[in-house]
Amino acid sequence: MERITVANARRAETVGQQVRVQGWIRTRRDSKGGFSFLEVNDGSCMANIQVIADADLGNYESEIKKLSAGCSVTVDGEVKESGGKQATEILAKTVIVHGWADPDEFPLQKKRHSFEKLREWAHLRPRTNTFGAVARVRNCVCRSIHNFFQEDGFLYVHTPIITASDCEGAGEMFKVTTLDLDSPPKSDGKIDFSHDFFDRPSYLTVSGQLEAEIYATALGKVYTFGPTFRAENSNTSRHLAEFWMVEPEMAFYELEDNMELAESFLKRIFGDVMDQCGEDMQFFNEHIDKTVLETLSGIVDSEFVRLPYTEAISLLEKSGQDFEYPVSWGTDLQSEHERFLTEQEFKSPVILYDYPSTIKPFYMKVNDDGKTVRAMDVLVPKVGEIIGGSQREHRLDVLESRMAEQHLNADDYWWYIDLRKFGTVPHSGFGLGLERAVQFVTGMANIRDVIPFPRTPGNAEF
Ligand code: ATP
Ligand code: MN
Repeated sequence: MERITVANARRAETVGQQVRVQGWIRTRRDSKGGFSFLEVNDGSCMANIQVIADADLGNYESEIKKLSAGCSVTVDGEVKESGGKQATEILAKTVIVHGWADPDEFPLQKKRHSFEKLREWAHLRPRTNTFGAVARVRNCVCRSIHNFFQEDGFLYVHTPIITASDCEGAGEMFKVTTLDLDSPPKSDGKIDFSHDFFDRPSYLTVSGQLEAEIYATALGKVYTFGPTFRAENSNTSRHLAEFWMVEPEMAFYELEDNMELAESFLKRIFGDVMDQCGEDMQFFNEHIDKTVLETLSGIVDSEFVRLPYTEAISLLEKSGQDFEYPVSWGTDLQSEHERFLTEQEFKSPVILYDYPSTIKPFYMKVNDDGKTVRAMDVLVPKVGEIIGGSQREHRLDVLESRMAEQHLNADDYWWYIDLRKFGTVPHSGFGLGLERAVQFVTGMANIRDVIPFPRTPGNAEF
């Protein structure tokens, strides 16, 4: 007996085969003619396979007629051509019940629950159509990320999750410690970290960039892809305290090369999702956001807008829009501004670049004007910033004066500075937030619904 997925059992080619499918009941319907229809789902695809269970099966009355949503089964039988909407169905020879799901208790019955409610059941929500589809699309995005870089000669490097450099000003950091918080060792009234596990204060990383630069300046083109952590208390639909970031870093790349890479990278991901997740994307387009497919295919076929920050500010100032936060040169863009640019002004992704140095971190390359740095943010409709990146400052003297400007202690970055002392090269990189990408392609409104176990202020139950 060949064990196959529901996705494969649904193909017309399997008609006539004896197969075994295993999964969870979505619905049971009894026909007057003395048999039952079971809809079985195993997560391999959105659709269920219909199983016909005849009344002459040994456990028909005792078990099959008691099956309800959530019960787990193994079905052995023959794949038949189906008269219904689907191509195939299975005529069961045996139905083994592994686990019951009391219909009075199992929450995922016919009633539709809100996404907010489903967050309370993070252990059950992957059994719904939406969360199954999100999981498959997320997987596809990850595969696409690796394929894109691997096919282009990038080396996958693993940067540390625990770090001692509280760098970058990318956001608040979570502390990592084994000290007894009730009575930490102190000297001069301050916590004495020489007794801590790492001999010093340490943190969960906010980005693997600085370490990726180490590998890029030895091996050329690299990428790191892992979890990152930000303790900022931003309760928005686009921020998580734990999220996954993919960060390519390339030696000998200038900002223009970086933009080109980011654009083709995003197009590859969007194209792969449309090619490989057709059924799931159809579902998102029908039930979540009726514009996602049109938006994605439009983006894949067109050029991203490239716009210097300074021009973006004057566009926003002239827009006549009544923004909640006023804009002027030197301020960071808020999501309302980003959305105006991508959704109204250009109706396209926009790569903003050359930001004021005052609102960007020390490591970004200073332009000849002395006021702006070679930063770039890729903005997309609805989600806003999806990628942040830059050409890095590779000139030792400029880097050191930027660090001094931002009151950073050069001793803490001795190894980063060494990269500029020994064989320095122009180099660039960026970070794509995986969840923002999944949010964008699926049209899901809240970032908490595109990661299996969201961590946000006050939430770490599962
Ligand atoms: P934002 O301005 O949206 O808060 P950021 O500028 O702080 O983001 P970067 O430090 O540039 O973010 O990080 C690179 C990318 O990581 C962002 O473009 C975004 O896709 C993603 N990202 C950043 N912070 C978060 C977060 N808290 N949750 C999920 N994704 C995030
Ligand atoms: Mn950013």
